[in-house]
Amino acid sequence: MNLEKIMADLEKKNPGQPEFLQAVKEVLETIEDVVTENPKYEAANIIERIIEPDRVIKFKVQWMDDKGNVQVNRGYRVQFNNAIGPYKGGCRFHPSVTEGGLKFLGFEQIFKNSLTTLPMGGAKGGSDFDPKGKSNAEIMRFCQSFMAELYKYIGPDTDIPAGDIGVGGREIGYMFGMYKKLVGEHTGVFTGKGRGWGGSLIRPEATGFGNVYFAEEMLKTRGDSMKGKIVTVSGFGNVSWGSIIKATQLGARVVTISGPDGYVYDPDGINGEKIDYLLELRASNQDIVKPYTYEFPNAQFFEGKRPWEVKCDVALPCAIQNELNAQDAQNLINNGVICVSEGANMPCTPEAMEIFLKAKILYAPGKASNAGGVATSGLEQTQNAMKLNWTAEEVEDKLHQIMINIHEACVKYGKDEDGYVNYVKGSNVAGFIKVADAMIDQGVI
Ligand code: NDP
Repeated sequence: MNLEKIMADLEKKNPGQPEFLQAVKEVLETIEDVVTENPKYEAANIIERIIEPDRVIKFKVQWMDDKGNVQVNRGYRVQFNNAIGPYKGGCRFHPSVTEGGLKFLGFEQIFKNSLTTLPMGGAKGGSDFDPKGKSNAEIMRFCQSFMAELYKYIGPDTDIPAGDIGVGGREIGYMFGMYKKLVGEHTGVFTGKGRGWGGSLIRPEATGFGNVYFAEEMLKTRGDSMKGKIVTVSGFGNVSWGSIIKATQLGARVVTISGPDGYVYDPDGINGEKIDYLLELRASNQDIVKPYTYEFPNAQFFEGKRPWEVKCDVALPCAIQNELNAQDAQNLINNGVICVSEGANMPCTPEAMEIFLKAKILYAPGKASNAGGVATSGLEQTQNAMKLNWTAEEVEDKLHQIMINIHEACVKYGKDEDGYVNYVKGSNVAGFIKVADAMIDQGVI
C-alpha cells in the first residue's frame, strides 16, 4: 500500500477537508501491515474504495424564524459505507458543520459500527444550523424543513440517523414526526427516540456509560479499576453527563466539566444533585459552565482554559474534535495520568495521541470507547423490530457486554510484542477486517 500516494490523491480530491484527511491517515497508518499481509485487499482495491463515501447528499434548508425572517442553512447526509448493514450515524447541528467534518465522522463511524458486532454501516449528517438561542418553535420549523428533504434518503432498512452535538431527544422528536407524516409509517427510522414512542431505555446515557465501562476494562488489564480515581471530564453535554454518572457509580471522583468558555474545577466531586444541576444548565440552552460555581461555591471557574491542566488519574475528553493538543497531553502525562478514554469523536490531535502511545499509558480512541452510543442505538432498532421494550437492566447488561467485547477485539488486534495494547491499531484493524471482507464477498458493485 502506497500510503503517501493515497493521501496525496485524497488531498487533491478533497481540498479544505483537514479533519477528513486526518481521520483517514490515522486509520490507514494502523492497518498498513494487515493490508500488506493480505494481498486480497490490494487485489480488490479495498483502500481506495473504503475511503470514498458511497454518496454525499447536500441540500438547502429554508425556515422562518420567530420574527418572520426567512433563514437558509445547509443540510447534509454522508452515506459512507453499507457493506455490513444499513447506514447508521448521528446528525449534528452546529455552526461548525461542514461537508469535510461530516466525512470525517462518517468515515470513523464505519469502523466504530463494525466494532460493535451489530449489523450497521457508517454514515453521518447534520447542518450548520445553530440551535443556541433559538426558540422551541424555531427548532421545530428547522427540523421539519430539514426532514422535508432528508426523508427521501432514509428508512429503517436504508439509513437510520440518530443524535449528536445539538441534536437530542427534542430534535429527534420533531424530525421523526415530520418523517412519519411524509412517509405515512411509524417505523424505527431514528434512534434516540422518546421512551413512549419507540426509544430505548439507557440510550441517553449509553455513550458515557460505555466510555467508562471501556476505561474500566483498560484499567483491569493493569489490575486496577475506576474506584478511587480522580477523573477530569470535558464538555457538559450528553456524553459528559453519562460519563460522570457512571464514573461516580464506579467509585471515582469527577472534578471537572467544561464549555467553550472555560472549565470548572470542583475538588469535592461532581455528583448527586450537582449532576442534576448539569442537566438544568444544559436545558437553559447556554454555552457557559460558569454558573455552576455560583451554585456550588467550592468550585472554581478557569476562563478560556481547558481541564487538561488539572492533576488526574483518568481523563475523559467528551466535548468535540481536536480539543486536546500536544501541550495538554504532555500536561496530563506530567501530572501522572494513567488512562485517557475518548467520549467524543477524535478529541485528541494526532500529536497528543502520539504522546500517549509513546508514554504507553492506557489510551482509547473514540471509535472504540464511545461505541456504546451507537451500539445501544442498534439495541433500540432490535427492540423496534421485535416490537417490545427491554428493561433498563437488560439494555445496560447488553451494553456492558458489548463494551467488553469491543475491548477484547482491540486487545486481540492491538497487542504489541512487549505486551502494550495499542487500542488505536486494535480498533482500526478489528473494524476494518469485517468491513473489507464483506466488501470483497459482495463484489464490485
Ligand atoms: P452535546 O451537544 O450534548 O455536548 C457537547 C458539549 O461539548 C457541550 O457541553 C458543548 O458546549 C461542549 N463544547 C463544544 N465545543 C467545545 C469546546 N470547544 N470546548 C469545550 N467544550 C465544548 O453533544 P454530545 O455530548 O452528544 O457529543 C459530544 C461528543 O461525543 C461529540 O464529539 C460527538 O460526536 C461524540 N459522540 C456522541 C454520541 C452520542 O450518543 N451523543 C455518540 C458517540 C460520540 P456548548 O453546548 O456550549 O457548545
